[in-house]
Amino acid sequence: MLTIVQVYPELLGTYGDGGNGLVLAERARRRGIAVRLIHAGMDDQLASADLYLLGGGEDGPQRLAVELLANAGFGQQVSNGAMVFAVCAGLQMLGTSFSVHGDDEYRGLGLVPAVTTRATTRAVGDLVTEVNGTLMVGFENHGGATSFGSGVDPLGTVVRGRGNDGQTDGCRMGRIWATYAHGPVLALNPWLADAVLAEAIGRDQLEPLDSVADRLYESRCRALMNLGVD
Ligand code: GLN
Repeated sequence: MLTIVQVYPELLGTYGDGGNGLVLAERARRRGIAVRLIHAGMDDQLASADLYLLGGGEDGPQRLAVELLANAGFGQQVSNGAMVFAVCAGLQMLGTSFSVHGDDEYRGLGLVPAVTTRATTRAVGDLVTEVNGTLMVGFENHGGATSFGSGVDPLGTVVRGRGNDGQTDGCRMGRIWATYAHGPVLALNPWLADAVLAEAIGRDQLEPLDSVADRLYESRCRALMNLGVD
């Protein structure tokens, strides 16, 4: 049984990233993979999971989520091998520190050597990233700029938008994957949903699953190319 935990939807659900859990669970089910999707509220005990999903959130809720996760033994679950897929505030929280509005600096969970400072402008709009030759489409809405220490690979190279710093987006460090892209990004990019699912269940790849999401993805890529992304 694959257990997926969507972490603190009431804190980290502002940007619709809860859709990532729904997409993963549905793509698993359609392939006959037994799956359980748990929405772990801030008053619940954090369940053990094979895969934790962290979404985006506003500055205050993001700080509270760090505190709650630190006390809930989240780091231990990750050291024990749980996978993490994190978006935006989720990515910032995994790092060693992040600054929010007013430039106050806060400690992150320290699971990834990453520091997020406040950029001079807020990044709002399309975020397109090339990940191993495939376009990842989404949108971003954040005030951070993130830099990483050694041992961390970026998830991909930014084609449009800011992501971490205008050059790269997100990160991969072992079984921790992260991006600045909302969408929900796994609904917009079915190939990425399957890559996350495959990693979570320890397979190299999954059998293809035809769905309308593929057509939507292709049409989004075409639209972005017409806007000058190629
Ligand atoms: N609060 C963070 C920022 O503005 C993250 C926002 C988000 O998750 N979209 O940088």
